[in-house]
Amino acid sequence: MRPKKIKDLQARSKKLMVRIMDPLEPDDPYVMIVNSGTNPYLSRVVTIKFGRDGTISARCTCQWAQHGGMGCTHVIAALSKLAARKKRALSFWLTPEEAQRQKQHLLRLSDGRTENIWITSRQPA
Ligand SMILES: [Zn+2]
Repeated sequence: MRPKKIKDLQARSKKLMVRIMDPLEPDDPYVMIVNSGTNPYLSRVVTIKFGRDGTISARCTCQWAQHGGMGCTHVIAALSKLAARKKRALSFWLTPEEAQRQKQHLLRLSDGRTENIWITSRQPA
């Protein structure tokens, strides 16, 4: 299950605050606390693991993710924050065609079964 309006989510994710907990071991996942932009007492835990082939798997504690959804605002915010640390900006796409048209570094968020969200990475303007 993927979000239909991923560009809207990407815009909303910019208002969320993200705290990164770096992995202790190289193969451990990143754990991130994502706070709502409007309610500082509401937080989600996002876990992100980078595969060696450029595949990303992510988990989140929000309702959407618990019901099998992928690519929620929290995961988008968490990935964007990690990228910003490396001075990269991300864009999210629902089809590989749209993503490939950007002619940028390509990543793939996978739900581990059949669905993917494509991510391009560029240097911020
Ligand atoms: Zn979430």
